[in-house]
Amino acid sequence: TQAAEARERALPARTRDGHAVAIGANVNNPEQVPLALDQGAEGVGLMRTEFLFLERGDTPSEDDQYATYSAMLAALAGRPLIVRTLDIGGDKQVAHLHLPKEENPFLGVRGARLLLRRPDLMEPQLRALYRAARDHVPAGAPTGKDAPLSIMMPMITSVPEVLALRTVCERIREEIGAPPVPLGIMIEVPAAAIQADALARHCDFFSIGTNDLTQYALAIDRQNTEMAPEADSLHPAVLRLIRMTCEGAARHGRFVGVCGGIAGDPFGASLLAGLGIHELSMTPRDLPAVKARLRASSMAELRALAARACAEEDAAGVRALDGAQA
Ligand code: PEP
Ligand code: MG
Repeated sequence: TQAAEARERALPARTRDGHAVAIGANVNNPEQVPLALDQGAEGVGLMRTEFLFLERGDTPSEDDQYATYSAMLAALAGRPLIVRTLDIGGDKQVAHLHLPKEENPFLGVRGARLLLRRPDLMEPQLRALYRAARDHVPAGAPTGKDAPLSIMMPMITSVPEVLALRTVCERIREEIGAPPVPLGIMIEVPAAAIQADALARHCDFFSIGTNDLTQYALAIDRQNTEMAPEADSLHPAVLRLIRMTCEGAARHGRFVGVCGGIAGDPFGASLLAGLGIHELSMTPRDLPAVKARLRASSMAELRALAARACAEEDAAGVRALDGAQA
């Protein structure tokens, strides 16, 4: 019945041997939150704020952004929300920003690289976020993975970028008088996965963007339809980068999520959990199947599966392990 299905969707993604994987939804506006919660989301693991800029003809003001972030926090009622700062560039071009045209925009001034060059874009966004934290995050709210609000930086390649971003965040947080807000980074460039241990020292959490990590690891433009069949996030090279990211994070006790498309694939989610991923965030419609699959598995079996997958020679070999799974 419908009621039984709704109860099932609400169950946590806890494996048979008792390991819970946190489950978030990728949601960009407050109106989509009720649907995501109904599908079984425990929070929002990725709010892409580009959409605030793409859905209108001009730049949203600090107050506009404050209103949107506040509405997200209200809709989530204390559940975790990870807001990603602007990831413009690459495939996400915003005409009204009049940014210089680049020969290879995916390899150019994108994400954090743009934020660091454009304080006029980054600072109003951070002020809006820290005002929302000051006004809507109650004293004594959880910190870490369960924090009601976290801020995440896109397209990180190096430690100096993280240090520079942290400095700006800390200054603005003090100016606003906001409580501490966990600051995380996207791992979506191979350099960041390889240096995960160094990066983990300087931030609070990671979220792996497997769409971009796959694009940059395999040198396949994520929009190239001809190459799309080979752009598989379950390629062993990508899985090994994810494994390195988990190992680097573990060295500093940081948690690691995945918010790229493969998190919403039940077999992909199983592998990710086996690699040591703590949180999976996906399109709301993918939530029920992923949760059901994880609940039907044991972590011991997922770890063995992940180890076998990393040792495969190609993506087809990894895919063939689906179903071979006990
Ligand atoms: C990703 O790259 O996997 C990701 C989640 O970010 P986006 O798709 O917005 O680039
Ligand atoms: Mg990305």
